[in-house]
Amino acid sequence: MISRNQQLFERAQQRIPGGVNSPVRAFRSVGGTPRFFVTGSGARVTDADGTSYIDYVGSWGPLILGHAHPAVVAAVCDAAAHGLSFGAPTESEVEMAELLCDLLPSLELVRLVSSGTEATMSAIRLARGFTGRDLLVKFEGCYHGHSDSLLVKAGSGMLTFGNPSSGGVPADVARHTLVLDYNDADGLAAAFAEHGARIAAVIVEVVAGNMNLIAPRPAFLQEMRDLCSRHGSVLIFDEVMTGFRVGDKGAQGLYGVTPDLTTLGKVIGGGMPVGAFGGRREIMARIAPLGPVYQAGTLSGNPVAVAAGLATLKLLQMPGFHESLARRTRQLCDGLLAAAAKHGVVFSAQSIGGMFGLYFRSQCPQTYAQVMECDTDAFNRFFHGMLDAGHYFAPSAFEAGFVSAAHGEADIASTIAAADAVFRAW
Ligand SMILES: *Cc1c(COP(=O)(O)O)cnc(C)c1O
Repeated sequence: MISRNQQLFERAQQRIPGGVNSPVRAFRSVGGTPRFFVTGSGARVTDADGTSYIDYVGSWGPLILGHAHPAVVAAVCDAAAHGLSFGAPTESEVEMAELLCDLLPSLELVRLVSSGTEATMSAIRLARGFTGRDLLVKFEGCYHGHSDSLLVKAGSGMLTFGNPSSGGVPADVARHTLVLDYNDADGLAAAFAEHGARIAAVIVEVVAGNMNLIAPRPAFLQEMRDLCSRHGSVLIFDEVMTGFRVGDKGAQGLYGVTPDLTTLGKVIGGGMPVGAFGGRREIMARIAPLGPVYQAGTLSGNPVAVAAGLATLKLLQMPGFHESLARRTRQLCDGLLAAAAKHGVVFSAQSIGGMFGLYFRSQCPQTYAQVMECDTDAFNRFFHGMLDAGHYFAPSAFEAGFVSAAHGEADIASTIAAADAVFRAW
């Protein structure tokens, strides 16, 4: 009998490119049929065939409280009953801006948008407008959304300008993006030595979470801060994923380095479309209507979306929230490591706050080149073994995973037991 997931996927492919509205959902790299989800509650999701899974994707990061948290759902319903959108200011936006500035001391002014992509795109335009320079530095393997300047990969050799990594991105745009190696402080220093006076901004995922998970070397972040300050370039921390996920003050609080601008998304919308960018007043004051850098949005600061974000952020303020989330996430990694070691599977894992990386290689990678050495066939075997046993991990070897506050001891133990069985049959 053909499954309902399969039926839906076939129907979807008739009218939606590849059957999905965002490419990684299509299961292309792992093979098989994407699951169409019907309900989510706490740590669990249920698909169209009625199969339930413990979820380690969490909508790719936003669902730090788990699915359909009652307080978040209530806040959304209440806001919706008062009107879905006004295209005019509302009090909840002010409350959100105040809360974000309280939580992240590097934010003096903040503007709300509707996605992480919008946040990074706008922050870069602002940095260029502020400095009067065009050149942008990014790091290979870091993802900052899908705007033109950011869909760029390294050219051949060091210190070459980028090539488009997507069709439809003009080479002329890619030319303004310099792509360097993540965690390579010397490479960054060399780039500044050659191009410093032309660099408008450096944008970085403080913890890289879009090439699996790579932890930053402290010297890399410090060198980046020093170089930007010395050369008058804007340092943008893209905390769309890490913001309130790795700790209560974001990755900037965890590593003690202060950016000029920060971009946020995911957790700050609690599952609804909210993004934000903010930072130093002097820079943020260049945005329209205060300044000449244009940025706008019909649904920016949407009251229903902001209600979900505010309800989520307030619950994260409970004492010990992040410590407990980090402990649970570490338990998962430790259990998976022990299971792999017991059965002689080449595997490593690590967690930072509520996010984790699993690697089919002997040690946790520190660079893009190292993460590319992971055994993707082994990952795919693990992925499908776990999926069949009711544990839903991201359908790609190059994505970080997420634990929510709704994941209990028993959920983690059940996932570790399933991995033990998968590794035993390895
Ligand atoms: C997800 C993500 C984005 C893009 O956010 P969208 O809401 O998908 O547009 C940007 N930067 C980072 C670090 C992300 O993880």
